[in-house]
Amino acid sequence: MTNALTQKLRRRIAAEGPLRLSDYMTACLLDPDHGYYTTQPAFGAAGDFTTAPEISQMFGEMIGLALAQSWLDQGAPGEFALVEAGPGRGTLMADVLRATRAVPGFHDALNLYLIEASPRLRAVQAETLAPSNHITPHWIGDFSELPDLPIWFVANEFFDALPIRQFRRAGDAWAELRVGLGQNNDLTAGFMPIGPVQDLTHRIEDTRDGDIVELCPTAPLIAQTLAARIAHHGKGAALIVDYGDWRSLGDTFQALQDHQPTNPLTNPGQADLTAHVDFEPLAMAAQAQGIDHSLLATQGVFLERLGITARAQALANHMSGEKLDAHISAHRRLTHPDEMGRLFKVLAMGPKDAPPFPGTETAQIAPRSNSPAD
Ligand code: SAH
Repeated sequence: MTNALTQKLRRRIAAEGPLRLSDYMTACLLDPDHGYYTTQPAFGAAGDFTTAPEISQMFGEMIGLALAQSWLDQGAPGEFALVEAGPGRGTLMADVLRATRAVPGFHDALNLYLIEASPRLRAVQAETLAPSNHITPHWIGDFSELPDLPIWFVANEFFDALPIRQFRRAGDAWAELRVGLGQNNDLTAGFMPIGPVQDLTHRIEDTRDGDIVELCPTAPLIAQTLAARIAHHGKGAALIVDYGDWRSLGDTFQALQDHQPTNPLTNPGQADLTAHVDFEPLAMAAQAQGIDHSLLATQGVFLERLGITARAQALANHMSGEKLDAHISAHRRLTHPDEMGRLFKVLAMGPKDAPPFPGTETAQIAPRSNSPAD
C-alpha cells in the first residue's frame, strides 16, 4: 500500500517538478503530519538508531563537565543560555544537568533552551528532564528565537539530520540529484545537469569527473548564527558532535529503519534520513565571524582527553555480571576507532582569547583542505 506521504509527494512533484534532495529530506523528516521526527519515537534500542547519550550516561557527563569548565574558564558569566539543538529524548541534557549539579553557580546562571522541531519529542524531553525540576526548559523551533545572552551550545547528531543537496561532477559543472516520478508513478532519483554551482567552486580542486559531493545549505547558516552570538558577547562556546569529516566526499545519504539500511525512496517518513556532516563549512563560518574553531577531533580522542576512562573505571567499581559487561561494551562503543570513536568528530568554537574548549585543541591555522584524489 502506498503511504500517505508518498501520495502527498507525488502530487507535489506533479505540480512543481522533481524535488531537490533537501526538499525531499525536509518532507520526510519534518512533514507536520507524516514526517519521521514528527511521528516516530525513533531512538534507543527499540528505535531505528541509537545515539551516544543513549549508549551510556558517561557521554553526557563528559560533555556537561566540559561545558561547565568552559564556562568557568571564561569567568563564569552570571547569566547565560545553555542551548541544545535536536535533543532527541533529552538524555544528553539530563546527564549534562546531573553531572554539573555540583559546579558552583552553574545551574543558577543557566537558562535552558532546547531547539526542537518535533512536538512529540518536546513532550519526551519534558519527561526526561522532569527530575531537574529546578530548571525550566524553554522550547524553541529555530535559532532565531534564542535570547540575547551568551550561549554555551551543544548538538549531538543534529547536523546530520539537516537536509542536504547532492551533486555529481560533470567536467567543471555539476548534475544535481532530484527526486521525481518514474514509470509506475514511483518515486525515483536521478541526476539532472545544472551547470556550475557557486558554493561548490572549491570542490573542483579536490574532485574528479563523476565524484559525488554534498552540500548542506542550512548548516553554515546555523554555524554563522552561533559564531556571531559568541563574537557579539565576547564569550560562549559551541560544541558540535556528529559523524562526518572535513570536506566529505561521496554519497553519504542514508536511510535507517529498525537499525537496518533501507531504500530512502520507499515509505518516506518511516525511516531516519541522514548524511555525513561536512565540518569545513562550519569552521569557515566561525572564522568569518572572527571566532576560533578547534582542530577536528575524533570522538574517541575527545572523550579520552576529558577522562572517560577514569569515569568508566569509577562506575565499574559498583558493577558486576551483565551490567558490568554492558558498561564495558558501552565504553568501547563510544571510544573505540572501530566503533563510534573515529567516525564521529567533534568541532568546538569559542572566542579568540579564551582557552580552548576542554578536550579540543585550537586550530592555529585553518586546516588544509583534502589534497586532490590521485
Ligand atoms: N541529540 C539526540 C537526538 C538526535 S536525532 C541524541 O543524540 O540522541 C535529531 C534531533 O534533531 C531530533 O530531536 C529531531 O527532532 C531534531 N531535529 C531534526 N531536524 C530539526 C530541525 N530542522 N529543527 C529542529 N530540530 C530538528
